[in-house]
Amino acid sequence: MSSYDVVIVGGGMVGATLALMLAQKTTLQIALIDAKALSADWTPGAIEPRVSAISLASQRIFQHLQIWDAISVKRMSPYRKMHVWDASGSGVLQFDCDSLNLAALGHIIEDNVMRSSIIEKLKAYPAVQLLSPLKLLSLEEKTDCIDIHAEGGHTLRAKLLIAADGGQSWVREQVGIDIKHRPYAHTAMVTTVKTALPHQSTAWQRFLPTGPLAFLPLADEHHSSIVWSTSEAEALRLQALDVVSFQQELSRAFDYQLGEVIAPYPRYAFPLEMRHAKNYVKPRVALVGDAAHTVHPLAGQGVNLGLLDAASLLDVITEALAKKRDFASFATLRRYERGRKSDNLSMLTFVEAIKTIFGSHVKPMQTLRNVGLNMTNHTQFIKHFFANYAVGNRSDLPGLAK
Ligand SMILES: Cc1cc2nc3c(=O)[nH]c(=O)nc-3n(C[C@H](O)[C@H](O)[C@H](O)COP(=O)(O)OP(=O)(O)OC[C@H]3O[C@@H](n4cnc5c(N)ncnc54)[C@H](O)[C@@H]3O)c2cc1C
Repeated sequence: MSSYDVVIVGGGMVGATLALMLAQKTTLQIALIDAKALSADWTPGAIEPRVSAISLASQRIFQHLQIWDAISVKRMSPYRKMHVWDASGSGVLQFDCDSLNLAALGHIIEDNVMRSSIIEKLKAYPAVQLLSPLKLLSLEEKTDCIDIHAEGGHTLRAKLLIAADGGQSWVREQVGIDIKHRPYAHTAMVTTVKTALPHQSTAWQRFLPTGPLAFLPLADEHHSSIVWSTSEAEALRLQALDVVSFQQELSRAFDYQLGEVIAPYPRYAFPLEMRHAKNYVKPRVALVGDAAHTVHPLAGQGVNLGLLDAASLLDVITEALAKKRDFASFATLRRYERGRKSDNLSMLTFVEAIKTIFGSHVKPMQTLRNVGLNMTNHTQFIKHFFANYAVGNRSDLPGLAK
């Protein structure tokens, strides 16, 4: 049996970042487990189809952890403007970093650029053991610890078990935490494209009657990553189209905003579901990231919320350690839950509202939302409020995100 202070199940962006936070800010012994191999490998050749819009709050977390430079050396693309418009009307909403006195609104970063940089940094910390690939079989909850049984007859003992194992969390299910969930009735089709016109460091999003189509600017000014959210049947049809037909449909759906689109790369589909755990904690267990909540990508917030979860959990753990309290007690963990649940719920509700308003085919609603978009665009204080919320500039942030 191997004993640890903290066992994190799931070495995605959130779980691996949390392991790095704990390694840098505490003296706890940590195991980071993943069912797949955790690798620091990255090859500059291929652009990964999965990218994330990383907020300024997440950027500050990565800067505090001294991995931002390693990420930026690999590849990232700042976006300085956002351009959102409705295909069923004249409504337009534009954000510009200059009006907020910022250098950028955020950065588009390939997920494996971030993952590989975090894992590379983690290797410098002997307090963290990377255990992957490792299949977990069962959990045994005891009064003062949790035993985690893995394949090969291995048992790991943890004072605190953290579920960072994504939307379909195995840990969440094993410890019996329920979730609220609802399909968004959208599947996100994702691929990389080339465009005739440069992307102008702008994150573009066009709301089509069937769902939003986003073009996210990549490091090369003629490359973007697209996220096309639509019905499952339509996503499957788009995925099956030959390259020429797909390019024609995509260029048209994007209203030729960046000219002709060339899309020769593989297309991937991700079914989208809203999930929110009814509880984030139990004695000696905490959920973070997608294990606690999944949200539609139209606002580009999923991993940003997860990184705020990780930074908040770090805050309550370090405070408990400083006060010589049990860092894994229910009372300690409840403080994390209270801090994050309402914030995540606000974002889930906001995204749901946007999806519903833009999904409506009722004429008066279409008129109203176009008027609303234009009004917001011309009302500076409302615009600044939304922009600051989206980029993660708020007063109630956890320590590492400030
Ligand atoms: C199309 C799309 C676009 C998106 N765009 C954005 C965006 O622009 N900005 C943004 O902030 N977010 C975005 N998101 C959301 C973002 O991708 C997720 O919120 C984020 O990846 C969650 O990270 P995580 O570490 O919590 O979970 P995951 O990335 O799902 O990682 C979970 C890890 O746990 C491991 N695991 C799973 N089960 C087990 C098990 N039983 N045992 C051991 N290990 C296990 C997995 O192998 C994986 O490594 C997008 C999502 C989609 C689908």
